Amino acid sequence: MRGVGGSNPLVPTIDFGLISLAAILLTNDDGVHSPGILILAEALSGVAGVTIVAPDREKSATSQSLTLHDPIRCEAVAEGRYSVSGTPTDCVILALHYLLPARPDLVVSGINRGPNLGRDIGYSGTVAAAIEGANHDIPAFAISLATWTDFQYQGAAQFAACLARRILDSPLPRGSILNVNVPVAPVKGVRITCQGKRNIRNLVVENTDPRGRKYFWLDQDLHLPEAEENPASDYLAVAEGYVSLTPLRIDRTNYDLAEAMASWPASFSKEAIPLTQ
Ligand code: MN
Repeated sequence: MRGVGGSNPLVPTIDFGLISLAAILLTNDDGVHSPGILILAEALSGVAGVTIVAPDREKSATSQSLTLHDPIRCEAVAEGRYSVSGTPTDCVILALHYLLPARPDLVVSGINRGPNLGRDIGYSGTVAAAIEGANHDIPAFAISLATWTDFQYQGAAQFAACLARRILDSPLPRGSILNVNVPVAPVKGVRITCQGKRNIRNLVVENTDPRGRKYFWLDQDLHLPEAEENPASDYLAVAEGYVSLTPLRIDRTNYDLAEAMASWPASFSKEAIPLTQ
């Protein structure tokens, strides 16, 4: 197994001389050829050296899944751009432990084609890739275009470049990422938000295949009526024309609940549970 800094036949040796350039690892869940990642790479290249390591095809809604039961193939499709037959999280791991000659200063994931808001972020491959970066103690953010119809990536890419510069200057605390959602233009400003509660309603569509066997197709109702939301939520920010920046914690522990459960261990011990035999 190769580690960071190992000699690597897929990576050309580049001598930067005395120039010390910050390094960004860029990934996504829409695939290495998606316009969102290519436009973002262009914008970020004005800030730092950018290496793209992204899935070879769309891997949206794969969350933080790993490919453990199939081989993973990796191909250099251009200089500094790798196509990987795995999930976004596979891409980050392969980049950090094999492809990159040194640890990057920032992991960026996106620009996703569609929003990543509220409880939906639990399914998001885009957000998961940023979390994987933070799991390696590397500052990270995920960025998504909060629209289903009007995919204009340029403004979001420029915003991502500003944000990248800011985080490179003053990195996020360990164990944190930013989840960024950019609404369609015109954008009124930027809001620091909380994760909203509303999620997209799942639809299970039942059908029959040509051999008479029943199958199901998961679909989503994207046009829900406005639900009751926290005024500081990510949903409301983008609905009102603001860029939503949600700081997320990797540690999912509910500390208030842990405190409220302080008496549980003693009460369990009274119940003589046969845990040790
Ligand atoms: Mn996606």
